[in-house]
Amino acid sequence: ESALQHYSQCLKGNVLQSGPRQPLPISTQDLCHAIDCEHIDVHYQPKVDIRTGLVRGMEVLARWTHPSLGRIPPDQFIALAEKEGLIFDLTLRVLRKSIRQAAAWVHMGFTPKLAINLSPLLLDNPGIVQEITSLVESSAISPSQVVLEITESAGVEHLGKAIAVLTRLRLKGFGLSIDDYGTGFSSMQQLARLPFSELKIDRSFVHGAHQRRNLGVILESALDMAKRLELVSVAEGIETMEDWRLLQRCGCAVGQGYLIARPMPAQDIPAWLRSHRARLPELRLPPSPAL
Ligand code: C2E
Ligand code: MG
Ligand code: MG
Ligand code: MG
Repeated sequence: ESALQHYSQCLKGNVLQSGPRQPLPISTQDLCHAIDCEHIDVHYQPKVDIRTGLVRGMEVLARWTHPSLGRIPPDQFIALAEKEGLIFDLTLRVLRKSIRQAAAWVHMGFTPKLAINLSPLLLDNPGIVQEITSLVESSAISPSQVVLEITESAGVEHLGKAIAVLTRLRLKGFGLSIDDYGTGFSSMQQLARLPFSELKIDRSFVHGAHQRRNLGVILESALDMAKRLELVSVAEGIETMEDWRLLQRCGCAVGQGYLIARPMPAQDIPAWLRSHRARLPELRLPPSPAL
């Protein structure tokens, strides 16, 4: 499919018809209450090794079911929490819950890294380093088993402060991931100056890249850059076997997406692990043909 064909299809179809989703009328008070009363739940989505399919980590994704409006998409309540100064509290609660879960997993002999989403707004607050560190250090897991995913964004107001916070977290042993890589505005500047350990390529460059040359080119150059900068490469949004095989061929290290698993509550993980184990032969990198 040529680029022009693709653009004209977008114009005809989805772009014009499916404009931005209407935000739900959630109130700050409701969100505040949900955070205080532990009504914010977490789901887990596996991050797996792309050569073997083995589980490397679990990303923690916040979930909120509003008493009258039902499920609220995280994009919406996270944005509200950021706007209303509730994101610090929300993040610590998500962290506390998932650390407790990780301790239970350690007990079962299952030790994936926890991937926690961190709002770039928190990088303005030097207190976050101590809060996160003390929560993790007083638990069954160590900072080296936690990756903090930070969405690449132009929202970092004081780059100097952000660098200091990230550097201190990195020195404590936390992994740092640039989330949704490719969607922000200051990618190159951030990459050059911030102490990241992982590059997580946005799903808009992943799903369907095998049939759109432009996406494939961007994907491959992002992977090449990750390799040269010695960052762990992660692809999000893997939905099909074609996506999976392309990433294997391009040498991506870690993958995540609906093909492997949707985000799920902790109680579903043991059953998922069993069915995933049965699928490993199909997911494994095929042996390279003899030359
Ligand atoms: P994210 O960190 O980039 O997380 C990935 C999102 O993509 C998740 O959406 C996940 O459900 C979705 N996803 C995973 N695999 C696929 C796939 O194969 N195809 C498609 N189409 N989507 C896939 P979700 O759970 O709705 O979260 C949206 C965003 O909300 C997250 O994006 C993250 O930026 C934010 N978020 C969620 N929980 C937290 C949190 O605890 N703290 C902060 N600061 N942000 C959070
Ligand atoms: Mg993330
Ligand atoms: Mg992401
Ligand atoms: Mg994303």
